[in-house]
Amino acid sequence: MRKISFFFLFLFSLQNAPANDGYHRKNYADVLHYEFYIAINDSTDRIEGRAKIQVIFKEETDSISFDLIGLKPGGKGMSVTNVNLDSKKNKWEQGKENLIIYFNTRARQNDTLEFNIEYNGIPADGLIISKNKFSNRTFFADHWPDRAHNYLPCIDHPYDKASVDFIILAPDRYKVVGSGILVEESNLPGPMTLTHWSESVPLAIKVMTFGAAEFAVKYAGSVNNIPVWSWVFPENRIEGFSDYSVAVKPLEYYSSIIGTYPYKKLANVQSKTIYGGLENAGTIFYSEKSVTGLGKAEGLIAHEIAHQWFGNCVTEADWHHIWLSEGFATYLTSLYFESVYGRERLESDMKSTRERVLEYYKKNQKPIVDTTVTDLMDLLNVNSYQKGAWVLHMLRYELGDKVFMNGLRLYYERYYNVNALTEDFKCVMEEVSGKNLDKFFQQWLYTAGQPELVIRNEKSRKKGITDVYIEQKQIPLFEFSLELLIKDSSGERLEKVAVKERVTKIEVPSIGAVLITPDPNINLLFKQK
Ligand SMILES: [Zn+2]
Repeated sequence: MRKISFFFLFLFSLQNAPANDGYHRKNYADVLHYEFYIAINDSTDRIEGRAKIQVIFKEETDSISFDLIGLKPGGKGMSVTNVNLDSKKNKWEQGKENLIIYFNTRARQNDTLEFNIEYNGIPADGLIISKNKFSNRTFFADHWPDRAHNYLPCIDHPYDKASVDFIILAPDRYKVVGSGILVEESNLPGPMTLTHWSESVPLAIKVMTFGAAEFAVKYAGSVNNIPVWSWVFPENRIEGFSDYSVAVKPLEYYSSIIGTYPYKKLANVQSKTIYGGLENAGTIFYSEKSVTGLGKAEGLIAHEIAHQWFGNCVTEADWHHIWLSEGFATYLTSLYFESVYGRERLESDMKSTRERVLEYYKKNQKPIVDTTVTDLMDLLNVNSYQKGAWVLHMLRYELGDKVFMNGLRLYYERYYNVNALTEDFKCVMEEVSGKNLDKFFQQWLYTAGQPELVIRNEKSRKKGITDVYIEQKQIPLFEFSLELLIKDSSGERLEKVAVKERVTKIEVPSIGAVLITPDPNINLLFKQK
């Protein structure tokens, strides 16, 4: 996802129980499949919903709780009218934020049950019913981070991934886009259109989606038989098709460097998302302002497409590890730019990103994995995005391009369509490199700050030698490699220094005056004091 402000810009690993990010995990149950039928109309914002939810039980239980916002003062929220369990009527109780279903017979371990929930109401959030910039009425799901349960009964946390069908009944002037492949589009009396999208790959709720609007739709090409479509408002048909057609390039690039794209299509959709872009699996929603006709959305599009691998396919198991999604998408965008525009582009990206990280640190002395965050919106911060990207950049420098890319590929392959934590990523990188990365991960992910260095040099008493002192001012000490560009009257050369003490001294052979430039190739996140 990209915040609007940057606009231009189950298989848990058992050895790593997820930290508690505040969500009460329902460890007794695992949702396998959702089918959401939703009827929308033009006279009110009220929706009629029917959810079929297939659940396998991990433990014996006599009830299950789904997340669902109940009727609020003011009239928004969902009212459940009927619940069936395997075609039989069932007892249920609706709370402010949940729906508890009581079973007539206890569910045993490994039982699979199907719940049918009928409900209706006006979504307070999660489904944005509004007018677009052309004053036309539109409907856009906008679930990230946990806003789906404003109108969908579900387990509203990314740890529980499930396949999904959206069956949308809408007045027939709307076209409906959604997760997965199109299995039905039928004209019905009304006149209404029923559109059915089906995704068989398990998704986190945050990136399941559908949207209904008047759309212009165009095929933009394909990559390894994955069709790429542009869905834009008809008034933006020419500009939108032009701006979104670039999507084919990052799709091709990431497929070649990381691995097979996980979904069966890629739709790039102009929408009313509250974010600059929202990476919905295979069906990315962009802010309606993303279309300008000036080709300025390449970075945004490359970022959201990168999420299809990291965030969507390999999904953080705990919100506090969101850098596995945002840091990865941010850095992969820089890698994409490097591949298209050259190393200079990467270096200028990393330079400006470093400035942002240092600036952010002045007011927020927090580590990337920050378990104190309780408001999920606060996770959309410079640490998750820019500092996360810097961690990957430094890991690449530390391990070398080849080992780093092998690690990214293995991490993707191993956690394909499931969840992961920072430790899982670390284990994979240790496996491919044969290195112990305890210190690297500890200092960059779980510790606030970065090295603050004073670098000075003086003539040694030894002839033809200059002493260079690198002093770490911050607490605690970091361990890293620092490149120095050393210029003297004989020319210039690079020196790589391993730094871990408070003061590191090296002796540099030199002739005449010496000029030292630290980190000339932009490989280290640090502040020069
Ligand atoms: Zn993102």
